[in-house]
Amino acid sequence: MNLFDHIRDVPDFPKPGIVFKDISPLLASREATQEAIRAMAEPYRADPPEAILAVEARGFLFAVPMAQELGCGVVLVRKPGKLPAATTAVEYALEYGNDMLEMHADALTKGQKVLIVDDVLATGGTVAACADLARQAGAEVTAAAFLVELTFLNGRSKLGNLPVSAAITY
Ligand code: IMP
Repeated sequence: MNLFDHIRDVPDFPKPGIVFKDISPLLASREATQEAIRAMAEPYRADPPEAILAVEARGFLFAVPMAQELGCGVVLVRKPGKLPAATTAVEYALEYGNDMLEMHADALTKGQKVLIVDDVLATGGTVAACADLARQAGAEVTAAAFLVELTFLNGRSKLGNLPVSAAITY
């Protein structure tokens, strides 16, 4: 099974000059999705996290099956205004302007070992913000796992010495 065969390049999305990695073909294949989940969970089997922090929206798709494999639950990180109970928020810089992510204030406990899961690591801004959210809650972020890492965007540079894994790297 070659996971690369299930990722589609879409030129000029979301704006001219950007080649978007589209994971739709992978999700459309039961076998490729199963292999992706297996590969994403593999590095964490020996020392599983106590919770997975799942990043809206495509991170959700991988976080739940990974958590089932690793024996833990999932905490949602969402765009502002989506979560119903009391939230904590973090603001982070985009290329133009700022964005915000929220998490339920009671979702994590102090010292809880947390793995962040998203579909793609690009510039690293999103995951760095999620790590801040988790640390504000007193949790310990142990690693971040992705389906795809775009190494040429150097997202790891925003993550300090946080361990990062990816099933597919470009
Ligand atoms: P970053 O904050 O620049 O690392 O961007 C990561 C976020 O943007 C993730 O939540 C991804 O879902 C999304 N993203 C960025 N580039 C791509 C891509 O090429 N394909 C799919 N998602 C992407």
